[in-house]
Amino acid sequence: MPNWFTTRTDEELATAAHRLFVETFAEDEAGAAAPEPVGVWAAPGRVNLIGEHIDYAGGASIPFALEQNTAVAVRPRTDGAIRIASEFDGSVAQACVPLSSVWPRHPADWSGYVAGTIWAAVEADLLQCDGLDIAIVSDVPVGSGLSSSAALECSIAVAAYELDHGHLPDDAARAGLVEACIRAENEVVGASTGGLDQNASLFGQRGKALFLDFATGAVERIPFDIASQDLVLLIADTNAPHTLSDGQYASRRGIIDDVQSAAGCTIRDIPDAVDFAATVAEKSSDSAELYQRRVRHVVEETERTLSAASVLCASDMDTFRQLMRDSHVSLRDLYEVTTPELDSAFNAAGEFGARMTGGGFGGAVIALIAKDDVDATAQAIEEAAAQQGFPAPTFVVARPGEGARRLH
Ligand code: ADP
Ligand code: MG
Repeated sequence: MPNWFTTRTDEELATAAHRLFVETFAEDEAGAAAPEPVGVWAAPGRVNLIGEHIDYAGGASIPFALEQNTAVAVRPRTDGAIRIASEFDGSVAQACVPLSSVWPRHPADWSGYVAGTIWAAVEADLLQCDGLDIAIVSDVPVGSGLSSSAALECSIAVAAYELDHGHLPDDAARAGLVEACIRAENEVVGASTGGLDQNASLFGQRGKALFLDFATGAVERIPFDIASQDLVLLIADTNAPHTLSDGQYASRRGIIDDVQSAAGCTIRDIPDAVDFAATVAEKSSDSAELYQRRVRHVVEETERTLSAASVLCASDMDTFRQLMRDSHVSLRDLYEVTTPELDSAFNAAGEFGARMTGGGFGGAVIALIAKDDVDATAQAIEEAAAQQGFPAPTFVVARPGEGARRLH
């Protein structure tokens, strides 16, 4: 039987966050009964539909916000402390971070995502904060490539924003919060992130995907109303260990950076980029054929993603499914970032409408399928993995849900 990640309703998640808050902060420091949280906010994880390994080449991506959320129950403090309890990995982790002690690379553990977001938002004059008590519960799988880190940052960001301003952020304020969340992750925790995750978590809308254009910075909501077509996106986390990913990632990125710096612009703006890549390769120890293969992926994946945006606007799901398949084949044969586990899940899902998602070298495969085919497809992916001795995958059904918001 396939393994499934659990997903609670908004109501259940809000109740769990509220309960954790009361259990953790039941007494104030003087032993008196402490008040309840003033509210519960939530932000979703995300999945990328198409547009992989092109963000650093002036490309585009089409992610959407999941219905799986991180929820935070929050109450303001007045002493500058951020006290945090998070139900995470089967136990409750706790931390207390004075806002005055947050700076680059401190705290660099999980509490840095929380305190770092508030610090960066205050530094950017987006809000004021004199401390918070925060209880966190989450249904976003951690480290599965569905961006639990952005869900955490963005739930904190909207909570702190509304507590200060008395209302939720509009789109302009959300754009500012995206930058604060990126800064928390890059500078405080020291993890690299380019903003796709935070944009999806803050700008997501039910029935919509997001078109993110990395050349212009534009974020546009486009239709992805799969529910009305009785479709769902099945996500299969292969649970395969990420192997060699740092060096492999760097070598691919190195080729793209090499070509872009020789041209003085992004791949997207180089006419005949594939031919141009061969001339750049002559000065390196890699072969021209390798340079051309890598750049061809970037050029074609960018074209695919731009046409996917138009195809989705026309609700042409058959063409979109073909583009998903072509994307996987390109990531497998030209960019070479798939693994046997990812290729197995892709084949077992029927290829058409399936592809790996995320950076590759492990992670998840997605399949856009009829709602009624979910169990059979999960079964086929699981059996294929078992036959080849791969780890049993974990599954989740995904539909486009709401971005960061108040639950209670
Ligand atoms: P992903 O974002 O793909 O899930 P990352 O490595 O970017 O993976 O982020 C995972 C890290 O984010 C965790 O190791 C932990 O430090 C932090 N994190 C995510 N969710 C939570 C949570 N609910 N509570 C505490 N920390 C969390
Ligand atoms: Mg992350």
